[in-house]
Amino acid sequence: MQSGRRIDNWPDGRIWAELGARLETNDGWELKQGTIFQKGIIAMRSFVLEPMQFGTLFLAGDAAHIVPPTGAKGLNLAVADVRVLSDALIEYYATGRRDGLEHYSAMALQRVWAAEHLSWWMTSMLHRYDDRDPFQQRLQFAQLNQVASSHAFQTALAENYVGLPIRRYALVEKFKRRSEAKIRREHGAGIA
Ligand SMILES: Cc1cc2nc3c(=O)[nH]c(=O)nc-3n(C[C@H](O)[C@H](O)[C@H](O)COP(=O)(O)OP(=O)(O)OC[C@H]3O[C@@H](n4cnc5c(N)ncnc54)[C@H](O)[C@@H]3O)c2cc1C
Repeated sequence: MQSGRRIDNWPDGRIWAELGARLETNDGWELKQGTIFQKGIIAMRSFVLEPMQFGTLFLAGDAAHIVPPTGAKGLNLAVADVRVLSDALIEYYATGRRDGLEHYSAMALQRVWAAEHLSWWMTSMLHRYDDRDPFQQRLQFAQLNQVASSHAFQTALAENYVGLPIRRYALVEKFKRRSEAKIRREHGAGIA
C-alpha cells in the first residue's frame, strides 16, 4: 500500500480495482463484486510472548503470538497450540503427571517461531517498503527472483505454507500408554 496508509484513501472502487488486477486471468473469468461492509488497515506485526505460560496460566493463539497475515498462519498456530495443550491437559487429568504441561510452551514455540519466520520472510519479500534503500530493494528483488525460479526455494516455501506437522502424535501415544497403564493398575487388566 503505497499512497498513504489511511482507510479514507481506499474507496470501494479502488479496492475492487486492485483486487481485480491481482486476480486477473486470461480465460475469461471475472471477479464478482459484492457489498463491502467493513474495511480496515491491518498492521504488519510480529510478536511472541515466551514462555507461553505463567504458573498455571497457559496461553494459546493470538494471546501468545501475532504474525503478519502474509503466511496465513494465525489461526493455524492457534489450533496447533490448542492441540498440544489439550493433550497435556488430558494427560494431567488422567494421570496427574505434569510432563506435557511443563513441555507445552517449548513444544508450541518450535512451531510458533517457524511460522513467525515464514510470515516475516514472506512479508519482507512480497511487500514494498518505502524506507528501503536501493541495496535493500535489490536484495528483496533477488530473493523474489530465486523463489520464482528455483524449485528448491518453492519446495521450502510450500512445505512451510501448507503447514508443518504438529508434534503431538508421539505424545498422544505416550499419554495413551500411560493412561492405559494407570487404568490397568487401578481397575485391573480386564478393563481396556
Ligand atoms: C482479516 C483477518 C484475516 C485472517 N486470515 C487468516 C488466515 O487466512 N489464516 C490464518 O491462519 N489466520 C488468519 N487470521 C488470523 C486468525 O484469525 C487469528 O490468528 C485467530 O483467530 C486467533 O485465534 P485465537 O483463538 O487465539 O483468538 P481469537 O480468534 O481472537 O479469539 C479470542 C476470543 O476471545 C474473545 N474475548 C476477548 N476478550 C474476552 C474477554 N475478556 N472475555 C471473554 N472473551 C473474550 C473474543 O471475542 C474472541 O472470540 C486472520 C485474521 C484477520 C483479522
